[in-house]
Amino acid sequence: MMILIADDSATMRRIVIRALSEMGEKDTVEAENGHAALDAIAKGGVEFVITDWNMPAMNGLDFVTQLRASNTKIPVLMVTTNASNVDVIQALKAGVNNCIIKPFTPETMKEKIKAMFSE
Ligand SMILES: [Mg+2]
Repeated sequence: MMILIADDSATMRRIVIRALSEMGEKDTVEAENGHAALDAIAKGGVEFVITDWNMPAMNGLDFVTQLRASNTKIPVLMVTTNASNVDVIQALKAGVNNCIIKPFTPETMKEKIKAMFSE
């Protein structure tokens, strides 16, 4: 499946892409903020989104809010350093399907993704 990775950190995108590749998921596209992520989705084909929360220009929360406002049901995994329950609830309310708290291991991310798609 085509997976969009939205993160302002190129290093973080590389880590996520490597973990996905180990899962056999090699069809990835990258975006460095929410605007670029919306543009990438508008081109079509994206089936799953992994997005950072903290990004310049448009953060992950605003990105997901806009995505859901357009009635798009693509599953979204949010990567965040905001570990409080309040922040997680805010993300879920915006339409995020699941959250992963930084720092995380590739194994943790793989487990989260597997859980999301087995629901
Ligand atoms: Mg960031």
